[in-house]
Amino acid sequence: MTDQAFVTLATNDIYCQGALVLGQSLRRHRLTRKLVVLITPQVSDLLRRILSKVFDEVIEVNLIDSADYIHLAFLKRPELGLTLTKLHCWTLTHYSKCVFLDADTLVLSNVDELFDRGEFSAAPDPGWPDCFNSGVFVFQPSLHTHKLLLQHAMEHGSFDGADQGLLNSFFRNWSTTDIHKHLPFIYNLSSNTMYTYSPAFKQFGSSAKVVHFLGSMKPWNYKYNPQSGSVLEQGSVSSSQHQAAFLHLWWTVYQNNVLPLYKSVQAENLYFQSHHHHHHDYKDDDDK
Ligand code: UDP
Ligand code: MN
Repeated sequence: MTDQAFVTLATNDIYCQGALVLGQSLRRHRLTRKLVVLITPQVSDLLRRILSKVFDEVIEVNLIDSADYIHLAFLKRPELGLTLTKLHCWTLTHYSKCVFLDADTLVLSNVDELFDRGEFSAAPDPGWPDCFNSGVFVFQPSLHTHKLLLQHAMEHGSFDGADQGLLNSFFRNWSTTDIHKHLPFIYNLSSNTMYTYSPAFKQFGSSAKVVHFLGSMKPWNYKYNPQSGSVLEQGSVSSSQHQAAFLHLWWTVYQNNVLPLYKSVQAENLYFQSHHHHHHDYKDDDDK
């Protein structure tokens, strides 16, 4: 399936850590689609090289020198910079259908069946279930839709200042029109809000397929002890057991599937440097 892709976004090196864990978690579960990451100019060369080991495409998006209509939307609504960046996923028109996943999500099993859904499919937001959560959604790239989304952003802004508010007002029929576009909650299980209905979590939590670490505390903000395998929050063990299990899983993927990529890129660097150095010496000798 080369015309379908999983897409994520990372605007800085910190969020790249999340994107790498997400990408590797997708690869661990029989990946059958392309993997794409959108990045912005702030992402360092080192992280670009590491991302390219996991993702089929690392695409830089730069709002400043984008097409006129993006530029205009950005100038009129500079506060929506990050939101407009996420909307760039609609420009990936070399794919017929994509699944967007936030960089703070973790895939627990194969989720290919998401590609059976149409645009716009998403799971309810745990904080307001008549709205969808924009951390996981199925969409169909289209420059026309992209343009309409940007027009909407220019005219109406976003009621929460982010992509979720904008997308919910653009796809405002989501909650009433087609139940097939409601993704089950197990495709976007927020790790920190599951206790409000704990019998349901006991019943269904184990079938979670995508965990979303939404909120201000991201997995990379915790400390991890590789010896004991425990995840710590500023020295104290994190609050809930379920969340602790998901955090532990995130860190296990980071440890086993992401850190080795740094080592291999560093090894390539050393090789390149010594190779380069050798030539330099040689040239020096010639000069003598
Ligand atoms: N994001 C990013 N850089 C940022 C903030 C957000 O790349 O500084 C991207 C990233 O893919 C992230 C998504 O935008 O997962 C949405 O932001 P976040 O997950 O922090 O919001 P939440 O899900 O907690 O509401
Ligand atoms: Mn998120």
